[in-house]
Amino acid sequence: MSKSVKSITSPKKFIVGQHLLKELCTYTKTYGDHAYVICDEFILERASQEASQSFEEAGHKSEFAKFNLEITQEEIDRHREAVRSSGANVIVGIGGGKTLDTAKAAAYYEHLPVVIFPTIASTDAPCTALSVIYNTDGSFDRYLFLPSNPDVVLADTAILAAAPTRFFVAGIGDALATYFEARACYRKNGDNLVNLKPSLSGLGLAKMCYDTILEYGLQAKIAVDNGVSTPAVENTIEATIYLSGVGAEAGGLAAAHAIHNGMTAVPSLHHAQHGEKVVFGLLTQLVLEDAPKEEIETVIHFIKEVGLPLTLKDLGLDEFREEEWRKVAELACAEGDTMGNMPHPVTPADVYQAIVAANALAEYYQD
Ligand SMILES: [Zn+2]
Repeated sequence: MSKSVKSITSPKKFIVGQHLLKELCTYTKTYGDHAYVICDEFILERASQEASQSFEEAGHKSEFAKFNLEITQEEIDRHREAVRSSGANVIVGIGGGKTLDTAKAAAYYEHLPVVIFPTIASTDAPCTALSVIYNTDGSFDRYLFLPSNPDVVLADTAILAAAPTRFFVAGIGDALATYFEARACYRKNGDNLVNLKPSLSGLGLAKMCYDTILEYGLQAKIAVDNGVSTPAVENTIEATIYLSGVGAEAGGLAAAHAIHNGMTAVPSLHHAQHGEKVVFGLLTQLVLEDAPKEEIETVIHFIKEVGLPLTLKDLGLDEFREEEWRKVAELACAEGDTMGNMPHPVTPADVYQAIVAANALAEYYQD
C-alpha cells in the first residue's frame, strides 16, 4: 500500500443516551442471537439482571462472564474458549478500558461482531480498533491492531456520570493529549493508529475534542461530582469517548502516549490511571516540542481546574530515581512506539531531560 494513504476509521455506530443497559439486545440483535457478555465484577449482577431481560424478551440467549482485572493473553484466551463452548455469536464488553479491550480482542480472534459498553469514560478504548495488552506484572506488553472498529459503542451517560469522578476526569486527561499528539503526527506525516497517514478529519476531530473539553470539562466534572448527567457531561462524554478515540486513531499518537507506556515500568505509578499518566506524558511532550508558553499555561491551568494530577508526586511517585526515569525515557523511544511520530528526532536523553523539566514546571505552577 502506498505510504501516502490517509484514513479515518470509526465504530459503525456510536449511541449516546441514558438507560441503554436495559435495551442491550436492541443493539446486539442485528449481529447475533446469542451474546457472550464480558463484565467488570462491579456491574456483573446488575448487567445480567437488567440486560438479560431484553434478551429474553427477544427470544435471544445471553451469558455473562466476569473479567479478571488484567488484560493478558491468558485472559483473552480464557474468554475465547468460553465463547466457543457456549456457541455465542456476538460478544459484548461492559466495563472499563481493559474489559472492553478484552472483548474486542476475543471478538477479533473468534471472528465475531462486538458491542462495547463502557462504564467509565476513562480511556480511548471504546471506539478504537486496538487492544492494549499487558504482562501479568502490569507492564505494557504490546498493541494488538484489529482489522476493524467495534460494531456498536453504547455510551450510557447515566452510568458514566455515576462512576467515580476520578475515572471521568482521567478520561478528560487522555482526551486532553489527543489534539497535541495528532498535531505532532500531522506535522511529521507520521503513522496513525491504523498505520496509515493522518487525515485532515482526524486532526479536525482531535481539535474539536480539545475545544469541547476546555469548554465543558469543568462543568461536567462538577456535575459528575454530584452523580448527575447534564448537557455538559454529554458533550464531554462525546469528546472523551468518541472524538478522542476516533481523533487519535485517525490523527495518530505521539510522545504523550509513548511516555505513558514507558511510565508503566515505574512500580509506584501502577495505581495511577492511564489518562493521568498521559497528562504527564503530554506535559513532557509540550516541553520536548517547545510549545508556546500560553499553550502550556492553558493546559496546566485546565489540568488543575479539573483536578488531574499535575506533578509526578501527585501521580503517586514515592521518589525520583534517575535510573528508573532513564529507563522510562528509553522505553518511550522503543522501536515501534509512537515517539517516532514527533516532528523531530527524539533520543532517550532528550526525553529524560524533558521529563525532569516537565515535572519542575508542574511543581512551579502547582500553587
Ligand atoms: Zn490513551
